[in-house]
Amino acid sequence: MTFESLGLKKELLKAVEEKGYTTPSPIQEKAIPEILKKNDVLASAQTGTGKTAGFTLPILQIITDTKNPKFRPIRALILTPTRELAAQIYDNVRDYSKHLNIKSTVIFGGVKPKKQIATIKSGIDVLVATPGRLLDLHDQKVLSLKRVDILILDEADRMLDMGFVRDIKKIISFLPSQRQNLLFSATFSKEIKALAKGILTNPVLVEAAPENTTAEMVTQKIYRVPKSRKAAMVIQLISDGDWNQVLIFTRTKHGANRLAEKLQKKGISSAAIHGNKSQGARTKALKGFKENTIRVLVATDIAARGLDIPLLPHVINYELPNIPEDYVHRIGRTGRAGASGEAISLVSREELEYVRNIEKLLNQKLKIVELEGFDLTPTEQSQQKDSSTKKNKRKTSSSKNTSRRNFSPKKKSNKGGSATNYKGKKRNNSKRSS
Ligand code: AMP
Repeated sequence: MTFESLGLKKELLKAVEEKGYTTPSPIQEKAIPEILKKNDVLASAQTGTGKTAGFTLPILQIITDTKNPKFRPIRALILTPTRELAAQIYDNVRDYSKHLNIKSTVIFGGVKPKKQIATIKSGIDVLVATPGRLLDLHDQKVLSLKRVDILILDEADRMLDMGFVRDIKKIISFLPSQRQNLLFSATFSKEIKALAKGILTNPVLVEAAPENTTAEMVTQKIYRVPKSRKAAMVIQLISDGDWNQVLIFTRTKHGANRLAEKLQKKGISSAAIHGNKSQGARTKALKGFKENTIRVLVATDIAARGLDIPLLPHVINYELPNIPEDYVHRIGRTGRAGASGEAISLVSREELEYVRNIEKLLNQKLKIVELEGFDLTPTEQSQQKDSSTKKNKRKTSSSKNTSRRNFSPKKKSNKGGSATNYKGKKRNNSKRSS
């Protein structure tokens, strides 16, 4: 399959070529023709599958083909849960539309609205937005949504998790009733299905292998360590391994700040990224991390969600998430695009229960290893034994596992593994930090 055969116009093909893509990803193969046919689409896909190009390319084509040369009302509205994801999608929209006469912009909270307002007033075809800022500007009559032809809800499950359902419904009430709707979600809970039912008309279902299918390329390890020694262990791992790009997940915002400070003090450049940080600080941290001026990025789950950080060699779970699906999302950050990666979890006694839940979800046993200088006390050793006896009763598969898709058909690795179990599992709605 080639991008040409999907029916995309030459300006878009040129942009795709300039991005260096040769083969459409599975989600692109399936979604692009359906969107071009102006069908509503309900897609199961998450970051890492190439979904952004999957919806952006065809909507740019539709808008270009039906453009009124005199006016630029907002014709496509892309709603996303987080500022980072909004910024990332906007970058994609800009890249893919660079050979077309299309104007786009992005709006989100946490920054002054003045510049956003001026850009919108100058005329915009495609708007990427987070719900709160969009409603603010709509209330101020800065923008009108009356001419929107295509609505895209990206990461719809995360939007519901973050409590955006009322905002979404309100925004939809401002849109024309005749429009095309595309909804992308990593999971399909009852709530998502209900939302989809209220928004989409006869949708075509499109599924792509989640980023966390199979996994020859990602090694998962668990280090048992008391809570109080976790920071020391992280410092040792990073220093001894001379790791230069490490993403660390913590469960809380304060935890992220504290760890980043401790690393800084030890001369390991790092930054924290979470919901309490200003947009400027978040953008700066992400940029530094991508450009390798910051060695360690410490993030909470919601802040990290949707971030496209290519080729990450090391991911550390400083604390395990209490939602097993989040573990899968986290480790999906390493071993991207066929490169090998390592996902390490630091597990204290209190977190052994989480290990069991994760193993149940993955249907595989995780390898527990020791790090020199961090030996367990005899009590801890016996607790570990207890937990692994329980685990051994379950059917297990290989200890090396998980990784993500490769867009090249030859290497396509979509054969069961964790994904089969992962998909369709009900989310635990425990509260989490952003
Ligand atoms: P997304 O799931 O949209 O966040 O995309 C994940 C990553 O895959 C991004 O870095 C994209 O630039 C990249 N990507 C998207 N489509 C393709 C493709 N067809 N071939 C190779 N890389 C791609």
